[in-house]
Amino acid sequence: MLSFDNTEISFSGKSNKDLNRSYWLFKMVSNRTFVSIGKSLTTFAIQTHLPIKGLIKATIFKQFCGGETIEECDKAIKELAKFNIGTILDYSVEGKESEIDFDACSAETIATIAKAKNDKSIPFCVFKVTGMARFDLLEKVSSKIALSAPENLEFERIQNRVNAICKAANIAGVPVFIDAEESWIQEAIDELANQMMVLYNKEKAIVYNTYQLYRKDRLPYLKKSFEVAQQLNYFLGAKLVRGAYMEKERNRAIEKDYPSPIQETKENTDADYDSAVEFCTENISRIAICAGTHNENSSMKLADLMQKKSIPSDTKNIYFSQLLGMSDHISFNLANANFNVAKYVPYGPVNEVLPYLIRRAQENTSVKGQTGRELNLIMKEKARRNLK
Ligand SMILES: Cc1cc2nc3c(=O)[nH]c(=O)nc-3n(C[C@H](O)[C@H](O)[C@H](O)COP(=O)(O)OP(=O)(O)OC[C@H]3O[C@@H](n4cnc5c(N)ncnc54)[C@H](O)[C@@H]3O)c2cc1C
Repeated sequence: MLSFDNTEISFSGKSNKDLNRSYWLFKMVSNRTFVSIGKSLTTFAIQTHLPIKGLIKATIFKQFCGGETIEECDKAIKELAKFNIGTILDYSVEGKESEIDFDACSAETIATIAKAKNDKSIPFCVFKVTGMARFDLLEKVSSKIALSAPENLEFERIQNRVNAICKAANIAGVPVFIDAEESWIQEAIDELANQMMVLYNKEKAIVYNTYQLYRKDRLPYLKKSFEVAQQLNYFLGAKLVRGAYMEKERNRAIEKDYPSPIQETKENTDADYDSAVEFCTENISRIAICAGTHNENSSMKLADLMQKKSIPSDTKNIYFSQLLGMSDHISFNLANANFNVAKYVPYGPVNEVLPYLIRRAQENTSVKGQTGRELNLIMKEKARRNLK
């Protein structure tokens, strides 16, 4: 029977040395003051070219990232594959705003597709539209403000980059996720994703849009998207997540004085997430889903639903996904029970993925002195292995 409590399976990929390193890392990031000082010091050290790259690379980077390049991720890919867990290479460089950078990001994503084509342990690729588009332009498109002639050309270049990726994915037969972002640019992203699904999802789901169920309007939007997919006769690809920008969304809504698009309570988000999963499993012959979540209940509910509906655990249309270095108890126990699992494996130059690493550290700081979930699980496994 599936259970997420088995830490022996959860940490089967970790040697005692790895486990101890993770223990110290999560112990350190559980300290709010340490993370706050560490964030400022690291940013300062990187800006002033102090030689701390080696230190970061051996610690927090090693926990949460696969490498600095696609090739460097080979070790992580192979390690995960040993346990029947796939890799989703996620080029995690953020905050670029030039056309040269946008082209480079598009080319890098296409390189991940080329890599995946020859490697069965890479079942999906992924990209963020903001990696290849100016944020302000996406906002303008989303708010339906008329674009100037140069802006129209700029948006065409964005469409071309997105299309180049999805076309390459289609030719390689490697499905690609389009990540969801802030609500005020999401409409432009949805439009692009929907156009790509029309083009490439005729025979199977190659392009997946992402649905953030912390938004009040996303469950109806998911259902509407399925209706459209049925009318236009294509498969819907749906990555289901709760959503990563809650505070930013709420603060902006207050600042600009409009109703927050975010659910009033966590329970509402959870309920919509689970309803979305249920809706998709009811239509699983025409929807392919990836449950991108670290929530134990939601993961267990999906596994139970599959069993109840006699959907084979390794059906190609259902994947579970977590981030590298987090929630291994979910990933490894699911994979051990023969469910399809793939980890997002972020990669990129150390100083460029720093914002991503800082977010992971902040996420694992202690709430009111409590021991975080990751640390608890590691401590349980250390005790099981009789490690000091
Ligand atoms: C593989 C993968 C891919 C992802 N891709 C994306 C993506 O493309 N776009 C994106 O935005 N995020 C993405 N995420 C992040 C995701 O949206 C969540 O932020 C994160 O996974 C935490 O949610 P959870 O489902 O794991 O579970 P939990 O830890 O149970 O839920 C936490 C989440 O619940 C919601 N929440 C918390 N408190 C409240 C409250 N008071 N009221 C209402 N809602 C609340 C928030 O969304 C919060 O992040 C991805 C995550 C994974 C694992």
